[in-house]
Amino acid sequence: MTSQSPDIRISADPPIRAPSSVPVDDAALPFEVGALDLRGRLTRLGPALDDILSKHDYPAAVGKLLGEAIVLTTLLGSSLKFDGRFILQTRTDGPVSFLIVDFQAPDRLRAYARYDAAQLKPGQDSGALLGKGHLAMTIDQGPDMSRYQGMVALEGGSLEDAAHEYFLRSEQIPTRVRIAVGEEWRGGGGGPKHRWRAGGMLLQFLPKAPERARQADLHHGDAPEGVATHAVVEDDAWVEGQSLISTVEDVELIDPDLSGERLLYRLFHERGVRVFSPQRLRAQCSCSREAVSSMLKSFAPADRADMVKDGKVVVTCEFCSSVYEFTPAEAGVE
Ligand SMILES: [Zn+2]
Repeated sequence: MTSQSPDIRISADPPIRAPSSVPVDDAALPFEVGALDLRGRLTRLGPALDDILSKHDYPAAVGKLLGEAIVLTTLLGSSLKFDGRFILQTRTDGPVSFLIVDFQAPDRLRAYARYDAAQLKPGQDSGALLGKGHLAMTIDQGPDMSRYQGMVALEGGSLEDAAHEYFLRSEQIPTRVRIAVGEEWRGGGGGPKHRWRAGGMLLQFLPKAPERARQADLHHGDAPEGVATHAVVEDDAWVEGQSLISTVEDVELIDPDLSGERLLYRLFHERGVRVFSPQRLRAQCSCSREAVSSMLKSFAPADRADMVKDGKVVVTCEFCSSVYEFTPAEAGVE
């Protein structure tokens, strides 16, 4: 459909308009392709991602990996309808042994990674940086609600692979995820400026009839020779959906001049795509002097005393690198 198409359908359908050409950064855009029973979200991150990553002096490969985890978190967490929290973390044996992304609904993001610089080598991809271990996703809906935790093994693959495995095994929702993170250099006074940008897309097949959601196994060829394997034929709509999302290029996901609506239109215009209101995202840590102070007071007196260095207690927030200084008296040291 183009903007010239007469909108004469008399139905409950939403109005038809041309895709907006205005790029919206730091937002997740929910969308739906009704004709194929597809739902999804498109995330574009600019200043918020740059703010989180530039507070740490990460090597580029570590920054890119943490950026990928942040995008995945926004794709999975921004659908939370409650005032809760979505936490994604990995514990692995690779150079990046731990990373955490904390999303607090409706819009706050913070994250950090721990890595061993001695183990970093040029050309390591995200799978090699992580190594083997697991990825955990925690949904915390507050003190009165139960906590949900989903786990998936990491075996040297990417975060995209881990997300596919998770949805196949745990949620049993046919799902495809694309993630891209890039560094942008822009010229100007004082030399080129470096910025991080990222984008991601989640696509899920949610047919009304559950039998249409059957999925082919990710691992082929596991059956012993001579044993007939049970061939799963995927629904045509989902085959088409997977083929469309597989055409999305990294550069399209991070292009600062290509709007999210135009990217969705480029992919799905033949079937018709409906977009919903974008959900804004921002980088903001939840640490505060009061919170750090009460954490200090929860420590044993001997541990507090050990923290005094050069006549003061200094606590640095791992998420945002904010530094909090206390006198020994303020820190509760006798
Ligand atoms: Zn902080």
